Amino acid sequence: MRALITRSSLLLFATAMIALVVADNLKTAGANAMKLTSRKPESSMLKEGETPALPDIAEPNPLLAQWEGPYGGVPPFDKVQVSLFKPALAAAMSENLADVDKIANDSAAPTFENTIVALERAGQTLERVSTIYGVWGSTMAGPEFQAVQREMAPKLAAFNDKITQNEALFQRIEAVYNSPAKKKLSSEQQRLVWLDYTNFVRSGAKLNGTDKARLSQINQQLAGLFTKFSQNVLAEEDGQFVALKSEADLAGLPQSVRDAAAAAATTKKQEGWLISNTRSSVDPFLTYSDRRDLREKVWRMFIMRGDNGDEHDNNSTITQILQLRAERAKLLGFPTHAHWRLENSMAKTPERAMELMMAVWKPAVARVHEEVGDMQALADKEGAKIKIEPWDYRYYAERVRKAKYDLDQNEVKPYLQLEKLREGVFWVAGELFNFKFTPATNVPVAHSDIRVWQVADKTSGKQIGLWYFDPYARAGKRSGAWMNAYRTQERVNGQITTIVSNNANFVKGKPGEPLLISWDDATTMFHEFGHALHGLNSDVTYPSLSGTAVARDYVEFPSQLMEHWLSTPEVLNRFAVHYQTGKPIPQELVDKIKRSATFNQGFITVEYLAAALLDMKLHLAGDRKIDPRVFEKEALDELGMPHEIVLRHRLPQFMHVFSSDSYSAGYYSYLWADVITADAFGAFTEAGGPYDKKVAERLRKNIFSVGNTIDPAEAYRNFRGRDPKVEALMKKRGFPS
Ligand SMILES: [Zn+2]
Repeated sequence: MRALITRSSLLLFATAMIALVVADNLKTAGANAMKLTSRKPESSMLKEGETPALPDIAEPNPLLAQWEGPYGGVPPFDKVQVSLFKPALAAAMSENLADVDKIANDSAAPTFENTIVALERAGQTLERVSTIYGVWGSTMAGPEFQAVQREMAPKLAAFNDKITQNEALFQRIEAVYNSPAKKKLSSEQQRLVWLDYTNFVRSGAKLNGTDKARLSQINQQLAGLFTKFSQNVLAEEDGQFVALKSEADLAGLPQSVRDAAAAAATTKKQEGWLISNTRSSVDPFLTYSDRRDLREKVWRMFIMRGDNGDEHDNNSTITQILQLRAERAKLLGFPTHAHWRLENSMAKTPERAMELMMAVWKPAVARVHEEVGDMQALADKEGAKIKIEPWDYRYYAERVRKAKYDLDQNEVKPYLQLEKLREGVFWVAGELFNFKFTPATNVPVAHSDIRVWQVADKTSGKQIGLWYFDPYARAGKRSGAWMNAYRTQERVNGQITTIVSNNANFVKGKPGEPLLISWDDATTMFHEFGHALHGLNSDVTYPSLSGTAVARDYVEFPSQLMEHWLSTPEVLNRFAVHYQTGKPIPQELVDKIKRSATFNQGFITVEYLAAALLDMKLHLAGDRKIDPRVFEKEALDELGMPHEIVLRHRLPQFMHVFSSDSYSAGYYSYLWADVITADAFGAFTEAGGPYDKKVAERLRKNIFSVGNTIDPAEAYRNFRGRDPKVEALMKKRGFPS
């Protein structure tokens, strides 16, 4: 995640966002988003009396220092105090602006070197500071830090605009872009010029002064609203829960869910057990609880986050965000926010994204009706005398899974130890990319739960990077799982060690006992590790084009692809071993998992796709004033949303879309990338299998190492020899194509 951003100078909005955080299930904290957009506005700062001076800090601010220590320097997580962020960001933004002014005011004629490359080198201090700021925002965001976020978000947005609206700078970029000398540059260099030019234009570089001022105002207002939105969701997730008071309230829950509920109660200083208002707590309860009344209660709490008509209600915030986005799109010359956002995506237009979504929507809805039919039949057979409601779906789906496939998720879990699977992903990285992971113990971390490994080439021993692993939930850490890049690979600033992290929210096991995870969690682990490998394999020259800094609808492709290796026999036999007996998972159980692979795909696809469709429809709606409650209902009615399913993210809690611009009009990206993913895995199966060395090398060379140095559609053709086809996706999900 990070990273990208900071390249400060360029990053601008659009692209910057791209790399943001690669967060899945993301429920992101506004902070991250901000991070990308970082640059600060001197003017607004001065107005508020916070000059670039460093207030109240006697010693030099450690966040501003070069990173020191092993591996070419590592982030000084051990020196962070929340009070250091404001002065560090202020000073780093000032330095960045000074760097940019120097480039803009250069008396020499503009060249690729003195303009484009110089921008790549600018703002390194801010890059370092905002990396750590982003880590705090996503994993250590206590109340004191949240106050800093609220104050800094608009300032960072304004800072961003200050760079993109620097006329002298843009004229130089434009001159390089239009210069005949451009043709002599390498293709990577030409793409960088194109990217800078496009990003500046997309951020308003060609607007007149009045429009630029209005644009900057909009961006600052949006930054404040994004932070407010995120903090409201976080407040409702932290503050609400359903208490389970007696054994009777636990009916149906497996031991692991009971243990997690007890641990959650202890954390909140409550007696007994409780279900927190987060997905990792709610979903298992809805899957296993025999208590239909409590399922409904928990379900209602969860789906109403941000929609309770109280001080944390997000509805009016959404209305404001949508209006500001629509106004900004118009200013920038686009019919809607969706058109603006998709311009440089792989899909290119909202229409193409909608077309794919609707092609999958119909068969997915048809499948849901079949799934509900199976569940209703089971309930009737048991004499339950109910009609399947949304709080019944996960519960009955699990029962049908058992009945149809004889597959009990709890039977699988003893074979899925977090630490063994970590060894498993390391092993896969060794097979596909020749990486070797070794613990690095001499590196400071933000919290004692975090561990670090160094990554080297297996054969040559050449150092490649560092991988930080932060697996456990804690207060102030956003839920979900995500990857973050602390330092991206590049060659402009000398040889550097790439630094990436994977983050998750597992509830810590009992001391001395291995932590067991679900099949879904194991899949997510491979997914996030795929993002990490995308960062670690990067082999480019310019930081703005590095690693995961690719189009939003392409960035999930490498990660989703990596999910396929979990179910390979090589991984299962070695790493899916029983936590007590050490025996590998029985083939019979693996076969059941495979046979049930397309089970419940109606539900999974529809709950996701409905949210993706609403995201796009909202951002195609133009500047009319939108009441989110009304819009949500009408749009779902129009789509024919099955009433047994609710959106994966209802609008008042849709962090992807309202905690920053990054996934706005972009939630479809997961489906888009999955089309490519399903098609790409076919290259392995058509060759020698998932570990075929030649295909793996093609994958590294054309996909994992190239970052954004090449158009993604072209990169894919180089790998596959043709464009992706949608058939593989339909087959993977078990839909007729
Ligand atoms: Zn992802």
